Amino acid sequence: MNKHSKIICISCPVGCILTVCSGGDIEVTGHQCNAGIQYAKEEITNPTRNIATSVRVAGGAMPMLSVKTARPIPKGAIRAVVDAVHRVSVVAPVRIGDVVLADAAGTGVDVVATREVGRVNSLEGGRTHALHSNAQKHPCC
Ligand code: SF4
Repeated sequence: MNKHSKIICISCPVGCILTVCSGGDIEVTGHQCNAGIQYAKEEITNPTRNIATSVRVAGGAMPMLSVKTARPIPKGAIRAVVDAVHRVSVVAPVRIGDVVLADAAGTGVDVVATREVGRVNSLEGGRTHALHSNAQKHPCC
């Protein structure tokens, strides 16, 4: 028996509403380009998502580091990946693209940093100092 469903293509900002008829072959209507057909077929047979979240940073200029999956993961693995990522903490400094969790929850997909976090060292008097500051040097120094 054929099953009809409507999904929104998220491959581009147009957001076409696709009608997908699945049963034997998968038939797609409502798309404005072939990427919509590809998206609909993947969404029906093996839906995937990119995950973006954050992890704790020790010794960093900020307490949290934004991270994302290096490529989409199966939708059914989202909870396991998010749980695994939230158990991770990293030590500054961290650079964009650093792997913070390899093979997240056995998906074969790494979770990587999406921003840079410099290291902070304590100075006398309890003040802190960013070692990787973007601040420019004063001309007299
Ligand atoms: S079908 Fe094509 S035009 Fe429509 S949302 Fe998907 S990618 Fe964009």
